[in-house]
Amino acid sequence: MFEKILIANRGEVALRIQRACRELGIKTVVVHSEADAEAKYVRLADESVCIGPPPSANSYLNVPAIISAAEVTDAEAIHPGYGFLSENADFAERVEQSGFVFIGPKPETIRLMGDKVSAKNAMKKAGVPVVPGNDNVLPEDPKEVSRIARGIGYPVIIKSAGGGGGRGMRVVHTEAALFSAVQTTRAEAQAAFGNPAVYLEKLLENPRHIEVQVIADKHKNAICLGDRDCSMQRRHQKVIEEAPAPLVPSRARQRIGERCAEACRKIGYTGAGTFEFLYENEEFHFIEMNTRLQVEHPVTEMITGLDIVQLQIRIAAGEKLKFRQRDVQLKGHAIECRINAEDPYKFTPSPGRITSLHIPGGPGIRVDTHAYNGYFVPPYYDSLLGKIIAYGDTREQAIARLTIALSETAIEGIRTNIPLHQELLRDAAFLRGGTNIHYLEEKLAQMVREE
Ligand code: ADP
Repeated sequence: MFEKILIANRGEVALRIQRACRELGIKTVVVHSEADAEAKYVRLADESVCIGPPPSANSYLNVPAIISAAEVTDAEAIHPGYGFLSENADFAERVEQSGFVFIGPKPETIRLMGDKVSAKNAMKKAGVPVVPGNDNVLPEDPKEVSRIARGIGYPVIIKSAGGGGGRGMRVVHTEAALFSAVQTTRAEAQAAFGNPAVYLEKLLENPRHIEVQVIADKHKNAICLGDRDCSMQRRHQKVIEEAPAPLVPSRARQRIGERCAEACRKIGYTGAGTFEFLYENEEFHFIEMNTRLQVEHPVTEMITGLDIVQLQIRIAAGEKLKFRQRDVQLKGHAIECRINAEDPYKFTPSPGRITSLHIPGGPGIRVDTHAYNGYFVPPYYDSLLGKIIAYGDTREQAIARLTIALSETAIEGIRTNIPLHQELLRDAAFLRGGTNIHYLEEKLAQMVREE
């Protein structure tokens, strides 16, 4: 096992990784920007290194500074968390070339999955059902493009091969609108991702977002840890996540889990990973794979009893998974609310000092946050303050516990989205379960109309 790990991230996930290391007896180095110097989790780490000024480009994305921090502190491995450099194949490669272990899959796997066209093809080959589409970069010839779109059938969605974060997509309903939309998306993709390649997919009209968590070691063992429903989204950002996904027939669940684990074995995947699917009419359609830890990993931990971050570390150190697929029992239900420092209805960021903080507790409640009384939420980064996760024997119990936990929570000095969560937890459609990816946006639009 490693003696010391460098955590190349900030906020709640930096603290989450620190806790996993502590339990494994591993020393931690946290890198931080000038804006995070005073944060408690930075002080709690065994060592900390300031890697630059507040803007991420100069600190959390500053590869040479991170590598030299690992060198001066004698860290052996680097955990990238989520966001920032976590899915950057060049970073993973630099880490390994500099003699450190990257806690994640191999750079070539990250690269394969980072290109959505190659990812889709690899998955299709490995037996994972994908969204119908052309599965290739679109050619230049407008006639060819029209022919391909007709073959798929309208409406179609134009997507960028190098895309991410819900950007670089465009829905097209008619042939007349197709070619100019393709050209615009290409130009946007070039500007945003430095890659103009686009491809076409069938637009699924009312799907749910269901994802499958996998874990694979370096000895060809790959295990599925169940699924999560993350359909409650605004602008493709997840707001509430739960495990297992409600109302999925157990046979469909088992089949997709097996396919994902098998795909991991086929492509030589290692570490924790997530297969994202659109789910419609009881069918799963692969859209992309995330080759890293996810924000919503705690709901899976709650229903499996496993520590996914510790598993990532053990796998990176070369250990074999000590359990098998049949040992993974999904028990109960877990729901997570992402607590953001933002206006609950206008969604404008709300940085500033937390003047009073009360964190909830009680049976089945887990709170993952780096916030504390007096913490200053810097304006430079993502607004995620932490997550409140509730576990119950049933979905109803998890919802009841989460509702109580939110009512106990008090955060003063800044605004948070807790009022929105409280509203969602008593929403009739959410209570029934199985709402689709458009539900939250439609509900928000409805609320604006009623005002
Ligand atoms: P990104 O990497 O930018 O997050 P994804 O491929 O994961 O892109 O898609 C993001 C979101 O866009 C999905 O969660 C879904 O809401 C929507 N989307 C993507 N592809 C389709 C599709 N074929 N039909 C309907 N919605 C889609």
